[in-house]
Amino acid sequence: MAPTLVIAIDGPAGSGKSSVSQAVASRLGLAYLDTGAMYRAATWAVLDRGIDPDDTDAVAALMTADAAPAIESGTDPAAPFIRVDGVDVAEAIRGELVTSAVSAVSAVGAVRQGMVDLQREHAHASSGIVVEGRDIGSVVLPQADIKVFLTANPSVRAQRRAAEVNVEDAGLVSATEDALRARDAKDTTRAISPLAPAEGSIEIDTTNLTFDDVVDAVISLVRDAPEGR
Ligand code: C5P
Repeated sequence: MAPTLVIAIDGPAGSGKSSVSQAVASRLGLAYLDTGAMYRAATWAVLDRGIDPDDTDAVAALMTADAAPAIESGTDPAAPFIRVDGVDVAEAIRGELVTSAVSAVSAVGAVRQGMVDLQREHAHASSGIVVEGRDIGSVVLPQADIKVFLTANPSVRAQRRAAEVNVEDAGLVSATEDALRARDAKDTTRAISPLAPAEGSIEIDTTNLTFDDVVDAVISLVRDAPEGR
């Protein structure tokens, strides 16, 4: 059975996608899928096997092998999980090693194809879902009922990211901003499915909005949708 409501939330790192998507899913009683966590899990598997993340052929070979790492996502917004071959990697995928390698791994076509297939399976198996990422409204689920593109200026995004990992030092916040800009640059210029607002998406600039404002704005879009949800 097709899901009754699909909400796609895309945007760059630190735009607030994950926390907003999770809150929207909880409030509307929908499933929640963090596709960034899936690409991070694939990257963790690449590093765990000692493969150079910039070696496109080796990364593609791993992800298409018979014994390719099995990436499993839990879609309950109250208790999402991410596992590789049964191992919980939720904490490990947020570390610096994975963060600095993920844009290279996610640019590989074979990686994207595998992830997109899994993401569509999750959406089709759900009765309604919020899916967040970079290419959800444009490539993964272009038929989504609601497409949102969240943005915020880079220094605000860096401050939010730094606050998430309890960094207060100004130098480290500025290093976070540099890393974030570098990741944005790779994600927006890659050949396959670059980060860009999808056709028909509604852009919300969260720079001067509170978290609750953004959640309310997305929920209003759902309520105002033509089907009158
Ligand atoms: O959302 P998050 O910052 O955790 O995503 C990590 C990385 O995964 C992004 O920088 C991007 O390279 C990749 N990604 C992607 N497509 C998605 C979600 C994430 O390429 N749909």
